[in-house]
Amino acid sequence: MEYIKTINNFDFRNQTALIRVDFNVPVNENHQITDNTRIKYSIPTIQKILYEKGKIVLISHFGRPKGKISEIYSLKFIVPFLSKELKTDVLFFENCIGKDVEKKVHQLKNGEILLLENLRFYKEEEEENEHFAFELSKLGDIYVNDAFGVSHRLHTSITILPKFFGEKKCIGFLMKKEIQNINKFLSKKGKKPITFLLGGAKISSKIEIIENIIDIADHLLIGGGMAFPFIKINGGKVGDSIVEYNKIIKIENTLKKILDQKKNKINILSFPKDVVISKSFKKTSNTKIVPIYSIPDGWMGLDIGPSSIKYFCNIIEKSKTIFWNGPVGVFEISNFSLGTKSIIKTIAKTTEKGSFSLIGGGDSIASLKMVKGCKEKISYLSTGGGAMLESLKNKILPGIKAIINT
Ligand code: AMP
Repeated sequence: MEYIKTINNFDFRNQTALIRVDFNVPVNENHQITDNTRIKYSIPTIQKILYEKGKIVLISHFGRPKGKISEIYSLKFIVPFLSKELKTDVLFFENCIGKDVEKKVHQLKNGEILLLENLRFYKEEEEENEHFAFELSKLGDIYVNDAFGVSHRLHTSITILPKFFGEKKCIGFLMKKEIQNINKFLSKKGKKPITFLLGGAKISSKIEIIENIIDIADHLLIGGGMAFPFIKINGGKVGDSIVEYNKIIKIENTLKKILDQKKNKINILSFPKDVVISKSFKKTSNTKIVPIYSIPDGWMGLDIGPSSIKYFCNIIEKSKTIFWNGPVGVFEISNFSLGTKSIIKTIAKTTEKGSFSLIGGGDSIASLKMVKGCKEKISYLSTGGGAMLESLKNKILPGIKAIINT
């Protein structure tokens, strides 16, 4: 952390900060922001520069317009919310490169903020394009990356643009906070016991994470669809539960290695003991509770069962540092949401008692809504699911590398 420059290393007086933010916020059908966390977390960086009477140019992407200009992907809708949060007017311009944009930037006065149009209206943004980066580089004196949610991507504004700023580049407060919080786990500096709970549907995207954190964790709980490949390889009957059979051969050796490690470190890796099974995903379908190793054919494990809830929650309650990514069941359907709700309540309760909790991933954060009053109690909600998972593989994110390299 010490070797990455932050905005605290610069005085922004009379300087134009070109800040790559991540304003890719979820919206409803009326284009209203349904979760403003990403914008709110970027405010401290903007405020520090405003306080120093710098000028601010904000660049971001929104959605997947795939290189085409499209009204529904315009970033203009962010302006009222951002102005309200900052208690000052935010200017907007309908493009992000070119002579007109440059003119607008040069007209900025100290303390003014200009939000530019969606970077992804140019296909070059997603192609690590030197020319596009050069055009963007004309818009600021100091480059600031505060877009954690896309810092695992090889995109122009993340990896190429910083090259044009020499020593004059850094990360913002949002990035700093994300890195510090993940480091509580990666550097084993968090208070022990450290517990990771990984759920969700697919194991292939998280296998590398398991390999890395097995040496860090005091407890590693595996729930959701993630558990079934392990149970299958261990000789269990998983019925029609989700298993990525086309990927399982590739990951079989890794899975076996992890299961062997489990034999030696018996307390670290835990799977659900029982599961709620059903023949379909329907809200009205019959359910049964069976041991996870004996799911009949035609049935699918769709939530963790009562013994597993008790077992997992008991471990979480005793933990001082807790990481959670991925629901332990198909929480979107009420029949299969009890496991995830119980996990949420327990993490919130344990946090209230003084433990540190970090939750990341779109589904996990969305699922917090199921239990009123819990979201506010979590110590930190990561603004980047994919970026956070990449960090847990103990890899330096491309966006961070680009700031370190001059
Ligand atoms: P991921 O993107 O891998 O974190 O997966 C999140 C999705 O996993 C959610 O939509 C859940 O419905 C789904 N999920 C969780 N548990 C299961 C399960 N046992 N079977 C199928 N899908 C699951």
